[in-house]
Amino acid sequence: MSTFFDDLEGRSALQRKTDQNRRLSEMIAVAYRHSSRVKETMDGLDLKPRDIASVDDLEKLPVISREELVELERRDPPFGGLCAADVNVARIFTSPGPVYEPHLGEGQLWARGYFAAGFRRGDRVLNTFSYHMVAAGLTFHEGLRAVEATVIPSGTSGTEMQVQLIRDLGVTGYTGTPSFLNAIIAKAEEMGHAFREDFRLRRASFVAEPLQPSLRKRFEEIYGIDTYQMYGATEVGDIAYECSAKEGWHICEDVIVEIVDPATGRSVEPGQLGEVVVTRLNDTFLLFRFGTGDLSRIIQDGCPCGRTARRLGGIAGRVGEAVKVRGMFIAPSQVARVREAFPRVTFQVVVTRENYRDFLIVVVVDDEGYGAVGDTRFGELFHSICAVRIDRIEKVQGGLHEEGKPLIDKREWK
Ligand SMILES: [Zn+2]
Repeated sequence: MSTFFDDLEGRSALQRKTDQNRRLSEMIAVAYRHSSRVKETMDGLDLKPRDIASVDDLEKLPVISREELVELERRDPPFGGLCAADVNVARIFTSPGPVYEPHLGEGQLWARGYFAAGFRRGDRVLNTFSYHMVAAGLTFHEGLRAVEATVIPSGTSGTEMQVQLIRDLGVTGYTGTPSFLNAIIAKAEEMGHAFREDFRLRRASFVAEPLQPSLRKRFEEIYGIDTYQMYGATEVGDIAYECSAKEGWHICEDVIVEIVDPATGRSVEPGQLGEVVVTRLNDTFLLFRFGTGDLSRIIQDGCPCGRTARRLGGIAGRVGEAVKVRGMFIAPSQVARVREAFPRVTFQVVVTRENYRDFLIVVVVDDEGYGAVGDTRFGELFHSICAVRIDRIEKVQGGLHEEGKPLIDKREWK
């Protein structure tokens, strides 16, 4: 049996880069000719299609946030001049904003993610995403069909109906949000079923909502469900997916992902935290450098699964929540990871400005693990997760500042 969805997943980094540069050049040429918006932007920056010849050249173009896309589409409906007028669009979806999205590509979206999660022919999969107006239901449906799984389009039906389908149809897999699967399991138990013993559901692929480690553990250990995550955005389709190694998400072959400093739009150093900016290589929706607003970083190491695509190290939070300290972004979720490793220590991170330099202070409640923070293990772990060194440790009596928020920015720029 094949290990990958297709050969592209095992190609060398050089082959991938060469191929993506070629496809990007083609997309820029199409966009310059057919997209009024892209032509206007490039003319304004004095750029010709030949100036965007490689992935590294993308930085010459501006990042477009979701809010900016909404505004572009409002001024020039329906697609903000990002879609050629004569393209044969199969479907138009919408999402809150509103954003109108032409259907992206036929059939292959999300297939890599479902394949990596182990979905195959013979699986019967409950697709609990809405099929109404939004892209989710139909696009995930097609991804499941691309790996030849049978789909039950249960959509947003109530939990009792979902339990009935799982029972009556011998459902083996689930796709949807983790919280909804949790609600379905609770309903099944309320209806008198022993979920693991009575049902065949053994595989779940989650998207659109973070999977809390504790909930993952519950699904896997108590209910025997093998869980996987996928990541994407309705404007650009699938972006990355988890493999059986379950350490980071491989970037899909049809997208270019940049990790950038949200303030400048330029790439951060490899491995550092920044905003996920995505360009989907396609000739329908000519959207370059879509800023997701999500924070992540690239995992550089190779993956034991054999896929050669770089991996995203999960989503660390949203751009607005991060604090930039000495050039590195720290997100509250990173501080939370350090807290998980030292559960007996009550602390928070406060960033100040001292002698014209960012200063990182760990504030610890006295008597609640203060000794452990002075330990070099704490400092090393903090540095490995947050990529910034601690400058000082301070004791407080009573409680933490600002109701114990994990990360506080107290800098004043006077
Ligand atoms: Zn892998």
